[in-house]
Amino acid sequence: MSQSNRRAFLGQLGSAAALGIPGLRQAAVSPQAATAAPQPSASASYDLLIAGGRVIDPSQKLSAERDIAIAGGKIARIAENIPPAQARQVFDAKGKIVTPGLVDMHTHVYKYGITLNVDSDVVGFQSGVTTVLDCGSTGAASFLGLRKYVMETVATRVYALLNISTIGLIVTNEIYLDPAMINARAAIQTISNNRDRIMGIKVRVNGKHSDLAHDLEVMKTAREVADATGLPIMMHWSVEPEMLAILKRGDILAHPFNPPSPNSSNLFGGDTQAEKVLPQILALKDRGIFTDGQLATTHHSWEVSEKATKQGWFPDSISTDISRAPDGSPASVLVPMTEFLHLGMPLEQVIAGVTMNPARIMNFPEKVGTLEPGVTADVAVLDLQQGSFDYGDQTRQTRTLKQQFVAAATVKGGIFLKGAPPAAGRGGPGGPGGPGGAGGRGTVPGPGGR
Ligand SMILES: [Zn+2]
Repeated sequence: MSQSNRRAFLGQLGSAAALGIPGLRQAAVSPQAATAAPQPSASASYDLLIAGGRVIDPSQKLSAERDIAIAGGKIARIAENIPPAQARQVFDAKGKIVTPGLVDMHTHVYKYGITLNVDSDVVGFQSGVTTVLDCGSTGAASFLGLRKYVMETVATRVYALLNISTIGLIVTNEIYLDPAMINARAAIQTISNNRDRIMGIKVRVNGKHSDLAHDLEVMKTAREVADATGLPIMMHWSVEPEMLAILKRGDILAHPFNPPSPNSSNLFGGDTQAEKVLPQILALKDRGIFTDGQLATTHHSWEVSEKATKQGWFPDSISTDISRAPDGSPASVLVPMTEFLHLGMPLEQVIAGVTMNPARIMNFPEKVGTLEPGVTADVAVLDLQQGSFDYGDQTRQTRTLKQQFVAAATVKGGIFLKGAPPAAGRGGPGGPGGPGGAGGRGTVPGPGGR
């Protein structure tokens, strides 16, 4: 966040080349592949081939060099050495990481509708993210604006959790203002009218012990709505056993790494901090309750995240909320991914936190977070840049990281939304605009475009 860090970061970014991934084996073209390659282009059976990258898809337990063939907006095949002549367009992903389109489990993308927001396409497709979940920016009285002006207009796929307070985040202490705004009937009605977009209920308790009686009442209403609609609750962090007892299998607890404060809580408690992750938190896993982890510059203290991860504690999903990247721009999920990698989370687990796990936690109507053949072709191509990068937390402490994720290309529904390769040579097969496909919006920025 600091200006000097920002300048240093920008300098590094300008000079740092996107290096290869350490430990990634050299992309060797086997003699068989070389002989198989020249095939008549008329027989091209795929629209797009993403070739030679390290494909990491935890949903298929896959982490290896593979080619991905896409046809009709769907994943057609994943294999080694798919002949390029079988595709109308080829993207060279050598030295890069290729994953399912990333999913950000916690954003606020109601641009112009609420004060604290980020642009869904900046934290979305421009960053390898094809699906985001807006967590409670709107309630029953304001959801339709989010639906009409964001969900139905932007290129990134946007779903939402409905705030249990009808006013949503038009004001930020929305559950403490007026008990009349905590309205189960209004929430149930809005959810039943928008089942295709609302994936759950959001409850922004602040986790203070002195608010316990009030928070229990709000959570009881949220429970009623969740039980009536069959949707999960995402609750802001609390360590109060009575609050945690209201959560059921499939619910989510968010913001584990809050800075120690009497006004909130984290994995270790509130103003008094325990040495170990609290037992009622460790018990969540067996109860089937998920945790969603934010790093970057909101709800994050490096001291807390370091203490927790040293004890082997990592969240199920990884998300941003409203955070800033080191250069001051809105943080996409690439920022916490970079930080979790720094904290020792294995690469495959980091990718699972933004692909397979969000898809498991939320019952999204579209099958996302996987590259299984047959699903909509959402793909992220990432560089793991090597260098020296300063990342700050909410308390303005920084850590210097040795590598960071950068988005090289994003494909949604088989269409490049970012980083399309140069058009094939003159007379080559396939017209401009790349492959046709379901769900895409057809904006095709030039190569290197942001
Ligand atoms: Zn939030």
